[in-house]
This record gives sequence, structure tokens and C-alpha cells, in this order.
Amino acid sequence: MIPKPLRKYWAYRDELSIENGLIMKGQRIVIPKVERQNILNTVHEAHQGIIKSQLRAKTCVFWHNINDDIEEMTRSCDICQSYGKSQPSEPMKPHVLPNGPWQTIAADIFFLDDEKYLLIADYYSKYTILRKIPKGHSNSCNTIVYLLKNIFAEQGIPETLISDNGPHFNSETFRNFSNDWNFTHTTSSLRYPQSNGFIERNIQTVKRTIKKAKQSNTDIQKALMILRVTPIDHHLPSPAELLYGRKIRTTLPTKINNNATDKDEIRQRFDARQDQQRQHYDKNTHKLAPLHNGQPIYIQNQSNTKKQWVPGTVQSKSTEPRSYIVQTENGQTLRRNRRQLKEGGKKRVTFELEASTEAPGKEQNSPLIKQTTNEPNVTTQPYRTRSGRAVNKPTKLDL
Ligand SMILES: [Zn+2]
Repeated sequence: MIPKPLRKYWAYRDELSIENGLIMKGQRIVIPKVERQNILNTVHEAHQGIIKSQLRAKTCVFWHNINDDIEEMTRSCDICQSYGKSQPSEPMKPHVLPNGPWQTIAADIFFLDDEKYLLIADYYSKYTILRKIPKGHSNSCNTIVYLLKNIFAEQGIPETLISDNGPHFNSETFRNFSNDWNFTHTTSSLRYPQSNGFIERNIQTVKRTIKKAKQSNTDIQKALMILRVTPIDHHLPSPAELLYGRKIRTTLPTKINNNATDKDEIRQRFDARQDQQRQHYDKNTHKLAPLHNGQPIYIQNQSNTKKQWVPGTVQSKSTEPRSYIVQTENGQTLRRNRRQLKEGGKKRVTFELEASTEAPGKEQNSPLIKQTTNEPNVTTQPYRTRSGRAVNKPTKLDL
């Protein structure tokens, strides 16, 4: 005789198992009663409506009648109800599906609450990436190129980017960008506005998600993440899974599979690499060659976090163990541990910043750089080039 509370699980008995102390139904964690309200709140966090919330739950959590509970909660939620989709007004024109993720992407710009955004959507995975365009930069196509470079540097370069003919995309700067980064830029023709339907639909979804998040005081980024981890439908996985080939961890308890076939081999290689690095480190910390008087060296700057190396000369060995008295190029005398000194450089008087990434200017002896008095502090003029040209502080482009 099965105890009464368990009877409703009889129907799923073949799918139930225990893993690490958790009851599982297939890949879904069976949630005990006391936790259900929390899980319901989390499932419903992005106010995605009934179907999408149920799809999201289906990827990771389960209890008897979970779908009914989600439906009931969503029906009684003012935010979900007030943002219910309007009836479809026209038949949807399907787009050609690329062969894989991140081959063809769409880009567009939209406004919301006095802010301007750039939205990228991948035609295959439906994964969306959102960037806020900083105020004051909204009319610059350089900003769009900068943001796209940022995204491509992380995701790789798509084969094709589709956008409208707007001024942000239709410029010399943008043409140079697509040539230089080797992707095809297609502007959808005004005669075929339906080719824009894909990005338009995504903009509507993202806008709705942001509005609902603001209204319910939910973290916008969390709400956008939920969009990316919710399965596209009952037969297709989430955009994140389609793009990355793995489930990403979210606020819902999720069983993350690591099915990589070669993961043991990779583990071994990482271990070997760490061993090698440790050996190399140990060797180098003990076997630093002695320095002789007059030898040109580089001195590690201890006064700032960058720890850059600046040129100098050995004066003499210090009485302290493993230390030397050294002179910087502006004549300052310091005592430094051998570890803060490295061989190299030439006997010279110009002040060269070894770690600098700036292009060499004509006036290498610019007084602006040489004015440092105490310890050579290479970050005192971070926004000036050697020729004294002021460089603007980079704008923070956080969303
Ligand atoms: Zn809701």
C-alpha cells in the first residue's frame, strides 16, 4: 500500500530517481512543498506569461500540478495581465533559418524611457544581446561600431549582419568596420520591410521585459537572462542552449549536465598546465641572477597597482639580503628586492614606458612625463600621450 501523499507520483514512478540526495523526475528536480512558493516566484520573475513560465519550469523543476500552479499565479498577476500580447494583426513571414548559431544576426536601435538601446538578435538561436547607448553618444555611428566590436570580441564575428538603412549603419565608418572585421552587412530593403520582422519582434519582447521588470522592481538583467534561458517552445531548447551548447546557471535550481566527452582529458591537461606553471614559478623565484654595479635594469613600480617596470641602473648591493640600491632615471635612489628588479634595457636617458601601448610620439622627452619627482609613477598622466596630447577618458558603456 503506497502512503497517500505519494500516490499522485505513482503515474511518474518510472521517471523518478535520486541523485545527490535530490529526488529527480528525469532532468527536473522534484521540489518539496515548503519550497514551492519560492520557486513559483522565481519562475514567474520575468512576468513572461503562462506558457513561457511553464516552459521555463519544465527545464529544471517539477511537482505534481506545477503547470496549474503557474497558470493560477500568472492569471492573478496584474503585471502579466496588463502586458498580455495584443491579437496578431498580420500573418508572420518566416525568415530563412541559418545552419547554425551566430551566423546571421540582426541589429537595430530602439528608444525606451528616454534611453537609446542597441539590440542584437541571432536568427538561429534567437539569443538577444542588449547594450545601452550612452547619453551624448547616441548619434555617433562610432558608438555602434564600438559596441558591436565589444560583442563580436566575445561571441565571434557573424557571417552576416542585417540592419536597416538608418544613419548608424549606413556610414563610411560602418563600411570600414565590416570590411576590416570581415562580415557581410546587409541592409534590408525598404521594399521588403518584413525582413525586419525578426528584429522588430525581438525589440517588442525586450521592451516588454524591461517595462515589466521596472514595474515589478525586478532586476532588468535577471529578467533578460530569463528570456535567454526559457525554451523557445516545447520541442526546442532555450536560446542560451542553442548558442552556447550548454545550460547556463540561473536563480532556479537546475541540474547542469557536463556531458563533454573529453572532459577528463581536459581536466588532466589543466592539471598538467598548473603543475608546469608552479614549477616555472618556483624555479624563477630562487634562481634570479645577481646584478652588478652600473647594470641597466627595470624596476617594478610598487606605488601603484599596475606594477609597471621602469628603467633604472644598479648602484650597489644593499646590506639587506637579496636587495640592491638602484637609481631611477630621474635620479631617485631606492632600495629594492631582487624580485622587483629585472635585467634588461640599455644605458639611456630618455624616459620610456615599457608597458605603454601608445604609439611612439615625436617628442619622447616631453616634460609632461618627466616631471615625476618621487618614485617613478607612470600613471600620473594616464590621459596624456607622450606628445602631450590629451586623450579623453573612455566612456563607461555599462548597461
Ligand atoms: Zn506576472
